[in-house]
Amino acid sequence: MIFDIVLEGGSIITMDDKNRILSQSCIAIKDGKIQAIFPIGSSSYEAKQKIDTRNCFIIPGLINMHSHLPMTYFRGLADDLPLNTWLQKYIWPLEAKLIKPQLVYDATLHGASEMIKNGISTTNDMYFCMNSIADACSQVGLRVFISEALIDNESPKEYRDNTIGRRITQLKEEYKDNPLIDFTLAPHSIYACSAQTLKTCAKIAKDNNILIHTHLSEIREEVENCLKIHKLKPVEYLKELGLLEVRGIFAHGIWIEEEEMELLAEKGLSSIAICTESNLKLSSGFAPIKKYQEKGINLCLGTDGVASNNNLDLLTEMSVTAKLHKALNNDPTMLPAQEAFAFVTINAAKALGKEKELGSLETGKIADIAVVSLQELENSPVYNPYSLLVYAINSHSIRDMIIQGKIVMQNRQLCNVNEQQILDKAAEYKEMILQATEK
Ligand SMILES: [Zn+2]
Repeated sequence: MIFDIVLEGGSIITMDDKNRILSQSCIAIKDGKIQAIFPIGSSSYEAKQKIDTRNCFIIPGLINMHSHLPMTYFRGLADDLPLNTWLQKYIWPLEAKLIKPQLVYDATLHGASEMIKNGISTTNDMYFCMNSIADACSQVGLRVFISEALIDNESPKEYRDNTIGRRITQLKEEYKDNPLIDFTLAPHSIYACSAQTLKTCAKIAKDNNILIHTHLSEIREEVENCLKIHKLKPVEYLKELGLLEVRGIFAHGIWIEEEEMELLAEKGLSSIAICTESNLKLSSGFAPIKKYQEKGINLCLGTDGVASNNNLDLLTEMSVTAKLHKALNNDPTMLPAQEAFAFVTINAAKALGKEKELGSLETGKIADIAVVSLQELENSPVYNPYSLLVYAINSHSIRDMIIQGKIVMQNRQLCNVNEQQILDKAAEYKEMILQATEK
């Protein structure tokens, strides 16, 4: 067999079920998959391309479990505000004025490129104009799970009936030959959707085996309102509507009580995507990670949109999360580095129901791989690879990125897009967005 690519040398941080680290090893890739992993020098082979990865870590591409890619152009537009003011005074009015397929495409191209430079190979996104997001991510080479945020009042009436399901089925059909693109169903939140919309989503998700992606218990007020209106806590309300019967990714999950966690844990289909930096900046609160872990709930991380974070750096997200929760629990043994690294790799793959394909480096899995250069002062010496990855490394050490067996970044150069053109576009849009803000 002639391989497409062989990564030669380096330490492979597999994140397999034994958490094996294979030093001085090679990964052979063909047809988008990992075909073989073997010690360097142990066998002879032919490959169309060989990449020297000695003195590197080979890690699974990182998985971002909650993002809003097209918000990239809103970075730094309105900061230092409470969530409700930020959303209702700035973000939603601007989105109502500006969101068109072309802007979504251009902003996604920017955000997706930025993600790849940060070691991210997959993102779970929620926004509007799904085709534009799909096309921009395909162009860059980023794997994406796309959903359209369903908001009653703002969405056309068609969303409230079964056409939501039909639309996703059509999109799945349209992109069926594109292995990077998949679709999920995203009622925005319990406060932006009616009970009927939420119920319809649960049914469609169940009938068509589609993932649910939604915001949950991000601020205290959301919980108080739910109790007032529905006489139920948010998770109880979701259960009543059937949303715990399907695989679900719940972003934020801050104000959740223990009884609610037990409901989430019952079927084992629910995962929480914690967005620490966004929550810190908006002072929304702290996700109760320790309690979630005690209840056996699958945890992963999301950057959220850059309008609230303001970066798409999952490595920092992981580092801040690990350190913050040690401090909050007054326990330095809490969330050790290896556990934190699972949040952005194998746990995230499990949340997506894709743990057989993504999230670890094993023969037969999809080749989504990040190469981390250790030739940096801050990455040396290495005693414990997880410690380096969680506490020391920054994204500039991500040297190469391979997604679906294709090189999308080499020596920090993006292969499928022109970075300067993306920067120029952002400057153009800034003028347009400023004008729209003034009007
Ligand atoms: Zn969000």
